[in-house]
Amino acid sequence: MILQTLTAFSNRFGSDPELVLAGGGNTSAKDGNTMYIKASGTSLATITPDGFVAMDRQKLDAMLHKRYPSEDAAREAAALADLMDARLPGQNAKRPSVETLLHALFPVRYVLHLHPALVNGLTCAVDGAAWARRLFPNAVWIEASKPGYILAKLCYERMTQYKAETGRDADCLLLQNHGVFLADDDADALGEKLQKMLDTLRAHCAFSPDFSPAAAEDPDLGERLAALYGKGSVYRFCGASEAVRFAASEEAMRPLTEPFTPDHIVYCKAHPLYLPTGCDIQTAFADYRAKYGFAPRICYVQGSGFYALSDSERSVDAAVLLALDAIKIAVYCRAFGGALPQSAALTDFIVHWEVEAYRARQAQ
Ligand SMILES: [Zn+2]
Repeated sequence: MILQTLTAFSNRFGSDPELVLAGGGNTSAKDGNTMYIKASGTSLATITPDGFVAMDRQKLDAMLHKRYPSEDAAREAAALADLMDARLPGQNAKRPSVETLLHALFPVRYVLHLHPALVNGLTCAVDGAAWARRLFPNAVWIEASKPGYILAKLCYERMTQYKAETGRDADCLLLQNHGVFLADDDADALGEKLQKMLDTLRAHCAFSPDFSPAAAEDPDLGERLAALYGKGSVYRFCGASEAVRFAASEEAMRPLTEPFTPDHIVYCKAHPLYLPTGCDIQTAFADYRAKYGFAPRICYVQGSGFYALSDSERSVDAAVLLALDAIKIAVYCRAFGGALPQSAALTDFIVHWEVEAYRARQAQ
């Protein structure tokens, strides 16, 4: 029954594009000593009961009190090995979400974790923490942190502190430059909590992004950029009004030059390329490649919006979705003091972590 309820609300939230993009977000449910968590590589929109991994809660709790190496790669490798070991018998074909431990922190039945643009308008804003205190006094604010075990440990400490101060278990975490966790014993109440949060944010955001068409695609330019990206690459064009506005000048582009969340790094790369009118595109491309070591996935073109580039249809479509998500966040955050991207140090960490994770996948 619990798995059916979990599947139903996962499908409901997962099929709302305002809430879930390109596989982001995860859900869980607890039943006695078992916690069911979304497996990596599954989508909330289409997940079936079989798409959840059954985990041993005692083993997950033990991870919070264990001493791991302080060096990043060694710590994450050891924590990942323990996470895999916390799978119940018969679950070895599935890989639990990297955010599993965060779900285990809540002593209630259902947990929902999402990265909605509306919420991230708050979590990626200069005055986000102050506004969070004002609008959501019962939420626990979690400052930006390295992902993985370090983030889970930080949340554990903040939640313990919250309980000591208020006598209550935290049921809402707002994670800076990341998203939101909500928890409840009742699945309907969980949906209502999310709805209330979104309504509050919507009522507060005086600015909403305008995605009406404003500029036309230049197919020659699209082909040229795709060819520069690599042989057999594909492109998508976005000439929506808001994209054209950001592309108006380097100054207008500023809120989009650094990534807001890890999702933007994973799907769009950490930085877009800006092409002012009349620039030498080939040189700009080569300079970008020399600086970062790879080709740009998002190219903003002055006066006309952006071109997304990648080597597959699936990847280029995800890049468009996340580039639009960044635009939404950049607009929403104006209501909370303006854009606060991830720190350069955190971006650097995630870029390298991604490379390592990719290498590990290739090596399997
Ligand atoms: Zn997340």
